[in-house]
Amino acid sequence: MIHIILFGPPGCGKGTQAQIIAKKFDFIHLSTGMIFRDNIKKKTKLGKLASCYINKGILVPDFITTKMLNIEVQKHFHAKGIIYDGYPRTKNQILSLKEILKKFYLGNINIIFHFFIQEKLIINRLLKRGKISHRNDDTDIITVNKRIEEYNKETAFIWNNDKYGKNIIKLNASFPIKKISFFIEKKIMNL
Ligand code: AMP
Repeated sequence: MIHIILFGPPGCGKGTQAQIIAKKFDFIHLSTGMIFRDNIKKKTKLGKLASCYINKGILVPDFITTKMLNIEVQKHFHAKGIIYDGYPRTKNQILSLKEILKKFYLGNINIIFHFFIQEKLIINRLLKRGKISHRNDDTDIITVNKRIEEYNKETAFIWNNDKYGKNIIKLNASFPIKKISFFIEKKIMNL
């Protein structure tokens, strides 16, 4: 099974690319942010727990996130591939992902696409997206700034010194959507 990770700050376009690529290759798209929002909408216990963190723009604790992600992975043993959008976001989450892949003989992480983009561009994108989607963690500038700060503090460097670090492919997230998906598709086809 192929495992593709989309890595980068909030608003860099991971979700858009994950949708395009999942459709193109018939892969499963796993977005931890989307699963949390779905749980919040359905008012589940997990949703209630996660919303306290999400509304503040900070990461949901690892034990909650990894448990949820592991349950999702186990639903897709027969998938051709999985695209992880917004996961892992901490070193612990990397370890936990490696563990579950190993435990169920699901293969290894194949590629990590690292989306880089200027901060002021993502702030504009997030605020614009918030107006359309009514995501409250996108509409409020304080929460938006907090999420970026959280990314820089907790997430940005998690692949440093990791043996999968060599599988990181950098891409310029300010390029047009089509150009980026074409680039990603080519890399996946070469696997
Ligand atoms: P996203 O849709 O990826 O921007 O995620 C929205 C929010 O969900 C984030 O700001 C976090 O509060 C939470 N979240 C999503 N993915 C993770 C993760 N891998 N670890 C911790 N919190 C997460």
